[in-house]
Order: sequence, then C-alpha cells, then structure tokens
Amino acid sequence: MPGLDLSGRTALVCGASRGIGRACAGALAELGARVFVAARSERELAGTVAGLPADAGQAHGHLAIDLGDTDAVRAHARALLERSGPVEILVNNSGGPPAGTATGASPDQFEEAFRQHLLAAQVLVQTLQPGMEERGYGRVVNIISTSVKQPIPGLGVSNTIRGAVASWAKTIARELAPFGITVNNVLPGFTDTERLRYFFGQRADAAGVSVEEARRRALAGVPAGRFAAPEEIAAAVAFLASPAAGYVNGINLPVDGGMLGCL
Ligand code: NAD
Repeated sequence: MPGLDLSGRTALVCGASRGIGRACAGALAELGARVFVAARSERELAGTVAGLPADAGQAHGHLAIDLGDTDAVRAHARALLERSGPVEILVNNSGGPPAGTATGASPDQFEEAFRQHLLAAQVLVQTLQPGMEERGYGRVVNIISTSVKQPIPGLGVSNTIRGAVASWAKTIARELAPFGITVNNVLPGFTDTERLRYFFGQRADAAGVSVEEARRRALAGVPAGRFAAPEEIAAAVAFLASPAAGYVNGINLPVDGGMLGCL
C-alpha cells in the first residue's frame, strides 16, 4: 500500500512563519521531506526552520517573500530551483484578507487579495511544474476555507478569493493529472491561530459583544465542540502531499470538526 513517507522529496510551504503554514512545514518534515518555508519575515522564518525535525545532513531553508509581489515570487521560486533541484510538494497558503463586507470593500482590496492568493499560487505552480513532471511526482495543496462551500458573513473579500482559488485549482487538477501531479484544497474550520483571534475581535466589534461571546457563538456551530489545532489541518495536508493520496485529485477537503452542514 502506498504510504506517507516523504523521504527524498522537497517541499515549499508558503505562509509558514506561524499558524497553519508553520504546522504544515513541521508535518512534512516529520514525514521526511526537506522543507523550504516562505513568508515575509526572515527572523520568524528562521525560527520556523530551527523548529523543524531534520534527519542528519538534511538542510531545510527559508525564502523571505511577499506573496503579493508576483514578480518577486517568480524570481524567488526560480532561485529556489537552482539551489534545491525540483520541488515536488507545494503548499499554497497566505494570510487571510482583512474582514469586512464584500459591498464595503474597495477594488484595491480585491486586487491585492487576488495577487496574494491566486497569482502567487499560479506563478509558483508554473515555475515548479517542470520539476514535478521530471520527477513524475507533484503535489499542490492549497489552504483555502470552508467559505467555498458556505460563505462566511463578514469575510467578503476572502469568500470571493477562496472561490476563485477553488475554481483555478479544479481546472489545473485536470490539466496536470497526466503528469502525476495532483492539486487539492484543504478547507480549515475554526483553527486556533492568530488569524482566528483577529477574526473573533472583528466579529465581536461588529456584533457589539465581547470576544469571549463571539468565540462561544462560533463554537456552538462546531459539532466537535472545540476549535482545531493547526497540526490537525497540517495532518490533512501531509496526507494529500504523500504517495498515499496519489489518486485523490481536484477535491475540497473540509477539516472543520463537522461544522459544514452541506454535503
Ligand atoms: P495566520 O495569520 O496565523 O498565518 C498566516 C501566514 O501567512 C503567516 O506566516 C504570515 O506571515 C503569512 N503571510 C501573510 N501575508 C503574507 C504575504 N503577503 N506574503 C507572505 N506571507 C504572508 O493564518 P492561519 O490561521 O495560519 O491561516 C492560514 C490560511 O488559512 C489563511 O489564509 C486563513 O485565512 C485561512 N483560514 C484560517 C482559518 C482559521 O480559523 N485560522 C480558517 C479558515 C481559513
């Protein structure tokens, strides 16, 4: 049976200085991959790398990139290939757009989110694809949101961009399948990170209640009765990145404690 071992594989995990991305880097390294992490802060990335499990002689690394700068993303990805050889696993992840209604958002906010999420993912896939093809093994995993199945009130720009990424991912999943490359989305439910603390602060302000009350109301909609740990999202990502998931392609996988009510 194909297993979870990622020895000999190289991964790039974006948005990995904290939260879900950081946990994904840890999970992939745990399974044996050499991991490169990307985000904006050199200092925080160095902290992520220092915390990764490593076999003797395994050199993880980091790239300081703003995912909203499309040309820089492409340039960094090319430089990474020269340094590391083919990168077979790509985790597309970035900070969520600011909260607010869709009708209240400016065109600039939509454009910024589109660049940071969709265009970054697009140029990374384009740049890494030849190496994945050469290896006959590619795994693209996009961290998006349950909002692709049920839009979340107060996250207008985010809901819109996640839908665009989901549709892009489904399209390229079919284009890349013949080369042994899969493309899947992980849809985290409420996950205990900085983003969730920001979100509850915004929800509390909008509803005129305390942050504790906003948390309590959110939790009432989660059958598991608790929020996820980032490592629980990372476990799903690691599975999709592994040989075991070789025939899983083009899916949206909610990891939400049963929160979504739809099929
Ligand atoms: P987080 O805010 O804790 O971490 C985001 C990571 O992305 C950080 O490493 C940050 O430095 C990096 N980042 C942000 N903007 C960047 C940029 N322009 N360039 C490069 N790196 C950048 O978020 P998280 O909770 O770990 O969530 C990860 C993703 O999953 C986000 O898109 C979030 O909206 C989404 N999500 C989170 C939850 C949740 O409950 N936490 C639920 C659903 C979806």
